[in-house]
Amino acid sequence: MPNQESFQHSGGQHSGGQRSGGCLCGAVRYLAEGAPLWSAHCHCRSCRRATGSAMATYVGYLRPQVRQTGAEPASYASSPGVVRRFCGRCGTPISYEGERWPDQIHLFLCTFDEPESVQPEGHVYTAEQLSWLKLEDGLPRHAGTTSDDQG
Ligand SMILES: [Zn+2]
Ligand SMILES: [Zn+2]
Repeated sequence: MPNQESFQHSGGQHSGGQRSGGCLCGAVRYLAEGAPLWSAHCHCRSCRRATGSAMATYVGYLRPQVRQTGAEPASYASSPGVVRRFCGRCGTPISYEGERWPDQIHLFLCTFDEPESVQPEGHVYTAEQLSWLKLEDGLPRHAGTTSDDQG
């Protein structure tokens, strides 16, 4: 999962303001206040399975920055200490919370009403990237999380 300390430390490039988002059916809605901490694409197997997609694009916020404005999402503990939230009606993945980053919530960027309002800064868990997924966006790539690269 993508906590990117180096992305955070290079931060400041994300603009503030309020961003709204929600699920496909519209039952789950949220508001995110202020500048996000980071944004990254995750290629890990767990995120692929949870989203049914070739990769998952996250945007990280401090928990107090995000509030639910619609139905309460359903949740699933995909690993010890990990909670994935999704719409219980239409199934859209909404967020990831992990005890490794207890102060953060990681939203799925493409649930934003305006996903182009945040620019992803890199890729994580590229060691698990699918061989047929060809990307030439020039963004930094990390085999694990940025903090795992040494090991
Ligand atoms: Zn992942
Ligand atoms: Zn829904």
